[in-house]
Amino acid sequence: MPLEHDVLIVGAGLAGMRAAIAVPTHLNVGVISKVHPVRSHSVAAEGGINAAIRPEDSWESHMYDTVKGSDWLGDQDAIEILCREAPGDIMELERMGALFSRDPQGRIDQRNFGGLGFPRTCYVADRTGHALVHLLYEQLVKRAAHVYEEWYVTSLIVEEGVCRGVVALNIFNGELTEIRAKAVVLATGGYGRVYLISTNGLINTGDGMALAYRAGVPLQDMEFVQFHPTTLKETGILITEGARGEGGYLFNARGERFMEKYAPKMMELASRDVVSRAEYQEILEGRGVDGCVMLDLRHLGKAKIMEKLPQIWELSITYVGVDPVEAPIPVTPGVHYSMGGILTDIHGATPIRGLFAAGECASVSVHGANRLGGNALMETIVYGRRAGTRAAEYAEQTQPAPSSGRVLQQERERIGAILSRKEGERAGLLREEIGKVMADHFGILRTRERMEEGKRKLAEIRPRLEKIALHDRGKTFNLELIDALQIFSIMDLAECIAEGAAVREESRGAHSRPDFPKRDDVNWLKHTLAYRSEAGPRLDYRPVTITRVPLGERKY
Ligand SMILES: Cc1cc2nc3c(=O)[nH]c(=O)nc-3n(C[C@H](O)[C@H](O)[C@H](O)COP(=O)(O)OP(=O)(O)OC[C@H]3O[C@@H](n4cnc5c(N)ncnc54)[C@H](O)[C@@H]3O)c2cc1C
Repeated sequence: MPLEHDVLIVGAGLAGMRAAIAVPTHLNVGVISKVHPVRSHSVAAEGGINAAIRPEDSWESHMYDTVKGSDWLGDQDAIEILCREAPGDIMELERMGALFSRDPQGRIDQRNFGGLGFPRTCYVADRTGHALVHLLYEQLVKRAAHVYEEWYVTSLIVEEGVCRGVVALNIFNGELTEIRAKAVVLATGGYGRVYLISTNGLINTGDGMALAYRAGVPLQDMEFVQFHPTTLKETGILITEGARGEGGYLFNARGERFMEKYAPKMMELASRDVVSRAEYQEILEGRGVDGCVMLDLRHLGKAKIMEKLPQIWELSITYVGVDPVEAPIPVTPGVHYSMGGILTDIHGATPIRGLFAAGECASVSVHGANRLGGNALMETIVYGRRAGTRAAEYAEQTQPAPSSGRVLQQERERIGAILSRKEGERAGLLREEIGKVMADHFGILRTRERMEEGKRKLAEIRPRLEKIALHDRGKTFNLELIDALQIFSIMDLAECIAEGAAVREESRGAHSRPDFPKRDDVNWLKHTLAYRSEAGPRLDYRPVTITRVPLGERKY
């Protein structure tokens, strides 16, 4: 008997859980996640969540900052919804029980974050994601959604152009099953782990994007990969932007606050692409300290560090042996966030009927060419809610369809072939190789030669995926098999990033080309769409939606 739901949500991070809670209780909702929900990457979010909740602030101003942050590539209808609806969502989270940090008057406190014209980032010390994930998990339990914990989705079921569920592997016993649904919402998070070192959890392999891509949905703006300015030396561990928001400085080896040169007005709180490029430039020109720059928090004093940034203090001591109360922290830019993703409309609907997407895996697009810190968490809540609501409406008008069992059969054969191969390539090594190619050839500064070479290397690796063999060929908790399946997602997405980046001959937001150093609105004010084809990604383009904020110069 196939398992069945009205709405099935793939992913139990903030976007997936928010979507599930939005489904009315008379509908049967299922949530599936390859890890326990509270281990989703959302739990690692540190710095905060943006909303214009003060009378002296406005959603219009939040919108302007977001459009400018996106280097005008964000769709303004989607950004307007994000910024207008954000305050209501913060109040709702608070009513659910979120313990936001307070200002001295007892109001929800807000901190400075990069690229914002107003301190607009609500937070729970430097553990905002942790607080919100546990909050929504409680709501999910209350909502009595059926949770498939530690199940891995291997394919979407699309029949006659309509999405009717998924094929999933129960990691506990290795069984492959159809889970049918009238509507499916992908909330599978980002692809940070396409790169070797990243702030992201190892599970962030972009599976949902690859599932949609293989089913024929285009991926939008995949070349825009965010590098966060402050990741801990050699580890990729994130040091929240809140550290600069609370007043931290960046220094080079000469003790200069180098951001003066690059962003005289906003300094350390310019947008992330700008600060990351500046750091990279300093290091490249020999003013780094062991491949890093220094983040100085000493002047904040111990009391403030312990109250506002306790986790940063702990991470720094644990991983690099530096107490931020006494010494500056060595940091470098590191891969952090996927601006692009599954193309959706403002209700989370993809071009395939019955298939929706929200959160980091989706591209609605509120982030365009560069995301502002604090906007990703808000996107998971606003667009998770909207996608869940629309998927429920769609499910109510849809009849279940009988299964042909075709996709299940295909997946059995595909996975059976991997499990039966005795000799071959090792998934872990392939993952490392791809991750290294991406880091070396599609990093902060991208030239044609580097990217073409990177594409050649990826093309050499691609056929080796068909020869993956496993040490563990058993059924119970075969995480090596999951690793192998994830490599196919990583490879698909690496190709989309590479293709989109190599073709885009301009510098916009996070996509920076020394050979085309300027933004080119005449030729490139458009979204990239990558469609799957036998020969690799096929690119197309679509216009950017501009409503309220006319094109402007981007200076910080
Ligand atoms: C260290 C760190 C700090 C951050 N700090 C902030 C911050 O302060 N403010 C901010 O706005 N943003 C921040 N971000 C970004 C933000 O946290 C993420 O964009 C957001 O939480 C993503 O949520 P999500 O629900 O889309 O996905 P995730 O939370 O990543 O959840 C993805 C879910 O999909 C499931 N899944 C994936 N593939 C499959 C599959 N094949 N089968 C079954 N299940 C699957 C996973 O199990 C998981 O449950 C941070 C990110 C990181 C990495």
